[in-house]
Amino acid sequence: MTRKEMILIVEDEDDIRELLHYHLTREGYRVIAVATGEEAIRVLPREKPDLIVLDLMLPGIDGFEVCRQVRRGMNGFDPVIIMLTARGEEIDVVTGLEIGADDYITKPFSPKVLIARIRARLRQSQAAPVGEDQILSMPDMQIDPRRHEVLIQGQKVDLTNSEFKILHFLARKPGWVFSRYQIVDAVHGTDYPVTERSIDVQIVSLRRKLGGCGIYIETVRGVGYRCKEPTEMPQAVLLAENF
Ligand code: CA
Repeated sequence: MTRKEMILIVEDEDDIRELLHYHLTREGYRVIAVATGEEAIRVLPREKPDLIVLDLMLPGIDGFEVCRQVRRGMNGFDPVIIMLTARGEEIDVVTGLEIGADDYITKPFSPKVLIARIRARLRQSQAAPVGEDQILSMPDMQIDPRRHEVLIQGQKVDLTNSEFKILHFLARKPGWVFSRYQIVDAVHGTDYPVTERSIDVQIVSLRRKLGGCGIYIETVRGVGYRCKEPTEMPQAVLLAENF
């Protein structure tokens, strides 16, 4: 039996904090729950949680500041951070992702969904990181970074350099949501400048070129884009006619 992961909950609303504590403990995680950012920062160096469920709107030091402090390399540990945000506050989500949060859940949420998300993120964070040159395979599609090639059902797809980089960037971390800015930052256009606005245009073009596999690239409204996780992909994709 391996050691169960430690989760820190930072949430000022008592009922939500207690609900989370109850469900996560029942899942077998070791759980610490605090109500303020100050307390979070105090317990972090000692407890070194594997994952933080972080409410953004807190009295005093808010969730953004907690996130910043953690990512500033506090004591050399690198937990997964899942933000809790209110519905309709996509700008908070974008800011949170850009300062280093890994994922978010919108309130009100179902504990089941949150637990599934926590499990997936912990699994991914413990898996060996995907190498820059590693071939990525998903149903009907292979991405070969060394050859800069994408194959759909064995057929080469003609992508621009930036389209390839966007696809590769997203596909290396399936399930992870990235803001447009993060994509721009990762891809910095080499053939022509990539801007936040041009990302949308390039994604449209990319999806069209990927035909049936275009559905692997998902728009997250108000936030950005993500590549679906393998479990969300159909085993065989019906190719669109325009491919
Ligand atoms: Ca709150």
